[in-house]
Amino acid sequence: MPLMRGSTLRAAGLVVVVLAGLLGSAFALGRSLVPEHPPSNAGATTALTGPHYADQPPSTDFPGGRATAGPSPDAAPDAAPVAPGGDGPYGSLVATGSSRVALTFDDGPDPRWTPQVLALLAQYGVKATFCVVGENAEAHPDLIRSIVAEGHTLCNHSWEHDVNLGKRSPATIRADILRTNDAILAAVPNARIAYYRQPGGAWTHPVVSACADLGLTPLHWSVDPSDWKAPGALAIETLVRTQMVPGSIVLMHDAGGDRSGTVAALQQLLPEMLVRFELESLPVGPQ
Ligand SMILES: [Zn+2]
Repeated sequence: MPLMRGSTLRAAGLVVVVLAGLLGSAFALGRSLVPEHPPSNAGATTALTGPHYADQPPSTDFPGGRATAGPSPDAAPDAAPVAPGGDGPYGSLVATGSSRVALTFDDGPDPRWTPQVLALLAQYGVKATFCVVGENAEAHPDLIRSIVAEGHTLCNHSWEHDVNLGKRSPATIRADILRTNDAILAAVPNARIAYYRQPGGAWTHPVVSACADLGLTPLHWSVDPSDWKAPGALAIETLVRTQMVPGSIVLMHDAGGDRSGTVAALQQLLPEMLVRFELESLPVGPQ
């Protein structure tokens, strides 16, 4: 009964759309009702415990959220704390600000995995954001060029993925971020770099202060499948599938180890995501 089947499918599609809308409203409402809330990745990180790694520090290591941030040493006495506009730790960005979902890929570029991720994104016409490590950008300028040429946006992820960068001197932090920008710009001279993501999500006040000085938006995430632990494609898929809501910023990795699970999960997730959400690369403003 092809007609019945078609209408059933359409009805199912409508239910999905309505549910997605309701979830989005609940998400937005929840945010607006809670003036100070823990980092939005808390749900994901507490659900999956494991060894400490770059983008997922143990909670005891976490330097704290906005509530514990001290005043900026650079700010005037009566100035508001550095508030880049996000609801994440230290005011970092954890939502796209619209119903669109953003996929972000960290730690590359990597000559084995980045091209595979790029190929999948191209296959499905999806634009994403790549948080690149400076020394990898310097080693693989061709991949930086591919990322930009294919319409994705860039984020600075420090020179050598120093999880403790936020504890270093303001001059060291600034130099590290600028060195990374320079490596990206050496590959693509007119590249627009609008975001910085602290390795390990280990934000500190000096890091967000440096971001503010350099015109970079601190970029965190809201959905973390811990793909760096290589939990297998199914685990990655399931977590992203169940936690993604309108506005989510999804953290994945295209480098730093065996990313075959990430690639396989993406292959499954991308067509599903396109049914449920509009995907975007995080905007970088006018070139
Ligand atoms: Zn990272």
